[in-house]
Amino acid sequence: MTYTVTLIPGDGIGPEVASAAIRVLSATGVSFEWENESAGAGALGKFGAALPPRVLDSIRKNKIALKGPTATPVGTGHRSVNVELRKTLDLYANVRPVATLPGVKSRYDNVDLIIVRENTEDLYSGLEHTVVPGVVESLKIITEAASTRIARFAFEYARTHGRQKISAVHKANIMKLSDGLFLDCCRAVAQGFPEVQYDEIIVDNCCMQLVLDPTRFDMLLLENLYGDIVSDLCAGFIGGLGMAPGANIGETVALFEAVHGSAPDLAGKNMANPIALILSGAMMLDHLGEHEAADRVRAAVNAVLLDGKKLTRDLGGAAGTTEIAEAIAARIEQGRG
Ligand code: NAD
Repeated sequence: MTYTVTLIPGDGIGPEVASAAIRVLSATGVSFEWENESAGAGALGKFGAALPPRVLDSIRKNKIALKGPTATPVGTGHRSVNVELRKTLDLYANVRPVATLPGVKSRYDNVDLIIVRENTEDLYSGLEHTVVPGVVESLKIITEAASTRIARFAFEYARTHGRQKISAVHKANIMKLSDGLFLDCCRAVAQGFPEVQYDEIIVDNCCMQLVLDPTRFDMLLLENLYGDIVSDLCAGFIGGLGMAPGANIGETVALFEAVHGSAPDLAGKNMANPIALILSGAMMLDHLGEHEAADRVRAAVNAVLLDGKKLTRDLGGAAGTTEIAEAIAARIEQGRG
């Protein structure tokens, strides 16, 4: 069987890490047809739209996409392609595993966290306006429907993946209505999952506790903004953004992408670490039911990290994006014999 997947290489380091991920996924022997679609700052220049309608059409048709990072201008310019994609396709659950990888230098050992972030509302509603000159309002939207849906997703994930505990992260001491509603929904859903422990922690304390000892957490359940910030914090526990994969899951469509952005400082230099997108590709294989291929990708990544000869600069090596990808692909191909 051949899987047709929408491929969005994106901006900055996106095309380089996307090529690397394709090289590795092809090495598994699973057959893919990649539908290459342009989105992001590059697409804006080329087609006059950062998210051309054909990209959405392609994802809706294929129901699965692999995406490199897309750049969004700060304080001005077009809306984030990511926010548009997640809202338009209703990719409501952002799943970001954060796990220590072998051989990677870090201050922390044995980190094994799953971040579940609500992906469609909160301060990412994009509803901002100037009330009077010098006064701006930005609307934080929290709904019972979206909060219940993400909580249910997290608890079902815990049940199917044998996870023990979910910590809901909030600031309901200040945002009593919005974060209060989010917590009410989490508590109500938790009732139906007595086998999963449930607790709550205020987001600022959560950040401090994470930095002291990330192993005291199992799964974190967060609204959109806290989830975004805490994801980058947690990537720091496992060697940085080059190592942190992710998935955006909806009822019918799933889009896989790394946590990191377009890293303009590294773009075009063959210096980016492609492991985050390669591991996002492994999550995609799992989603497709190709668990054995997904395991082989992860095993090959681990072997190359342990070997330590073909590491990118962020991991203390001198290899390029293409070299580390080639080393991972070669491991998989050797295994296939
Ligand atoms: P960034 O993630 O691009 O970079 C932050 C730091 O991490 C930089 O020092 C960068 O060099 C490093 N880094 C990131 N990915 C790396 C990799 N694969 N290998 C090695 N080092 C890596 O974040 P930023 O600088 O805040 O944002 C740059 C652009 O990316 C912005 O336009 C932003 O909007 C966009 N962005 C896109 C996404 C996405 O498409 N999912 C996510 C975050 C940021």
